[in-house]
Amino acid sequence: MNRISAISPFSESYAEARARFIDTARHAGLALTSHVHPDLGHMGETLAMDVARLGRPDALRLLIVSSACHGVEGYCGSGIQIAAMQSAQWLGEAAEAGVAVVFIHAINPYGFSHTRRVTHENVDLNRNFQNFAAPLPDSSAYEEVHPLLLPAHWPPDATCEAALQDFIETRGIKALQAAVTGGQYTVPDGLFFGGNAPTWSNTTVRTVLRQHGSQAAHLAWIDLHTGLGPCGHGERGYAGKAHDTATRERANRWWGGNGATPLMVLDDGSSVSAPLTGLMWGAVYDECPQAQVTSMAIEFGTQPLLQVLQALRAEQWLQMHPNAPADQAARIKRDLRDAFYVDTDDWKQKILTQALQAMTQAVVGLEGSR
Ligand SMILES: [Zn+2]
Repeated sequence: MNRISAISPFSESYAEARARFIDTARHAGLALTSHVHPDLGHMGETLAMDVARLGRPDALRLLIVSSACHGVEGYCGSGIQIAAMQSAQWLGEAAEAGVAVVFIHAINPYGFSHTRRVTHENVDLNRNFQNFAAPLPDSSAYEEVHPLLLPAHWPPDATCEAALQDFIETRGIKALQAAVTGGQYTVPDGLFFGGNAPTWSNTTVRTVLRQHGSQAAHLAWIDLHTGLGPCGHGERGYAGKAHDTATRERANRWWGGNGATPLMVLDDGSSVSAPLTGLMWGAVYDECPQAQVTSMAIEFGTQPLLQVLQALRAEQWLQMHPNAPADQAARIKRDLRDAFYVDTDDWKQKILTQALQAMTQAVVGLEGSR
């Protein structure tokens, strides 16, 4: 991979990732803006949503690449963004194609720094883009499994694990995945809580979209995620209105690789993910209504689903039991990071190759948009 710098673009902490993102953007001559978060990081550092822009403010074609919607998943996404900014060749190709590029680093900086998937409000940001004035999705499926997921003691006892196993055997793993990860709005200290109001990250990313996307006629958005699907494989997921056939076809034309890398659709059961609502991509339709939007999320696989779920349960339990022994707390946090970031050269190379390919395809697609 001659496109990718020999210096690893991946970081060991949020603080390191942020510093390297800013340094790399400055070195590449990109314009930087920072939106400071109200809380501090795990090491007392400043938390921010940082934005680096290549290209004119009035560019008609704009590619957005965003990381850490789900906090801890930023170890992956930040590395991809820094790798792209380290590549003078990649940046040059985008500029030559007349495509402006906006890198949004750490949409949920709190979760990245504190090794959480959720925001400081305990909210799954990618379930938080709901109309809170309207009735919210039903949460009864989650309420049923909540006591099994988060027992009083950790690790859970045999009775608790047997009950969960029984749920899987009688209802199926897909039903469990939907109940747990579908998003819920009634248990604020539970898993996959979608919130009861827009979070800081929600309102801030909307500001970024308005600032950078208001003048674009054609806008592409790639949002980087991890934690679902086969290890090292990036599943491309269509991020747009399911019934909007023209947009789906355009997204497939850009990113589908003639069937080699098909775009999955959350609602039809083809994806590694359960069907979801309240997703972040919806914000671009609100904030940049003039743009023709083509958008996807890439979901890079790490560990098997039940192992990832176990890590999420443990970390949520720790959040509810802050006086847990220090060694147990450290182990739980390490396991959570490992569930969303595979710290091997092989995995990193695989995800960089797939992400850079998707970004290049977006540039080509935007260049051809009229
Ligand atoms: Zn994610």
